[in-house]
Amino acid sequence: MRVFKFGGASVNSASAIRNVAHIVNHQGNSPLVVVISAMGKTTNLLEKVIPGIPANEQERTALIRQTKDYHMGIANELFEGRQNATTQRLEQLFDALDAASRNKPTNYNYDYDQVVSFGEIISTTLISGYLNAIGIDNTWMDVRTMIRTNEHYREGIVDFETTRRMAQERMSQLKADGENSRQIIITQGFIAGTAKGTTTTLGREGSDYSASILSYCLDAENMTIWKDVPGFLNADPKYFSDTIKINRIPFNEAIELAYYGASVIHPKTVKPIQNKGICLNIKSFINPDAEGSVIGPFESIAPLTPLYIFKNNQILLSIQPKDFSFIAEENLQTIFAVLARLNIKVNLMQNSALSFSLCIDYNEILLQQLRKALESDFRLVYNSGLQLITIRYYNQDIIDRIVAGRTILLQQRARTTTQLLVEN
Ligand code: ASP
Ligand code: MG
Repeated sequence: MRVFKFGGASVNSASAIRNVAHIVNHQGNSPLVVVISAMGKTTNLLEKVIPGIPANEQERTALIRQTKDYHMGIANELFEGRQNATTQRLEQLFDALDAASRNKPTNYNYDYDQVVSFGEIISTTLISGYLNAIGIDNTWMDVRTMIRTNEHYREGIVDFETTRRMAQERMSQLKADGENSRQIIITQGFIAGTAKGTTTTLGREGSDYSASILSYCLDAENMTIWKDVPGFLNADPKYFSDTIKINRIPFNEAIELAYYGASVIHPKTVKPIQNKGICLNIKSFINPDAEGSVIGPFESIAPLTPLYIFKNNQILLSIQPKDFSFIAEENLQTIFAVLARLNIKVNLMQNSALSFSLCIDYNEILLQQLRKALESDFRLVYNSGLQLITIRYYNQDIIDRIVAGRTILLQQRARTTTQLLVEN
């Protein structure tokens, strides 16, 4: 059994979905679990119709209409204007979405998951229906009956024991029912279910992680993420015109790179498959026959070349004790307790006798909360609008070229990695 994951950009139009059908149809005969995200930028749209968010009823209806028109336009193109069971089901789903967005606001994170999850339910309903219509027999599966999380809404924590049991049960049920000979399962990324039967999500861009959870729980032969890039590149093509494809990446290297901010895969993706030694392919949906990249049990990256990761919108925050004391373990303990409570991720840190400096993503609300929590004992000052550059396998030449003429506020060097915080 193999697991495929298609992200929003790979299913954002009728022609993109035809391309997905082509890829799914030309991958041999082994059973396939296909994990799909919401189409295009649907999740961003749905974030605006969570109860309590739209400014008024007019705005809410307009946004729901926009989401519906987008999907129905694609369905219309794929089904050549014919109404069928799939278009009927889509109509019902849009009615349910409309109702969910009209609910009275309760807890924001809970409301978020109940509404935003429609993106994946709708995309998979449409795509599964289309594949069946063109003769690619498949079964639509509600992933909420396979992946179990706790009730930590917007970032559900996966219960792997239960998920493993549920996912395997669902799969063997299908086999027993003889649902289809080749066994193609179409299911949702990003969303999961609780023991109570409510919906959770796994965090933005979490569909990669869904595919990895299912790969782990179903003992997949391998997993493939289909992207709009040829594979794992040594830099984001947004910043570099001459990127190099890395053909082989060791599991740990991929985890490090995702942690530093490489956006090609979600940071939680690699751990589960690494635990089982399942290889992860990253391939181009534009050029599916081309060799992509493989994350697997390798010794080192190949080819060995410098890797660059850029994180924008960073701030450098300096925290100084007010009482003339030095920065010591007790101060650090207080600071870290607050960071953990507010779920603030530290991208880089450094301390001196009088001050503790940390680089974090800029977020006004969290910054205010941090200030409030620390201001009785500490003075907080910060620089904003910074860029954090991480370079693995660096040399001085490379550093000079990258930061030429820019002001460096903080730099750290380890054996293989250097990080530079620079003014934009
Ligand atoms: N649709 C979700 C998002 O846009 C999940 C994903 O795309 O991976 O964040
Ligand atoms: Mg996505």
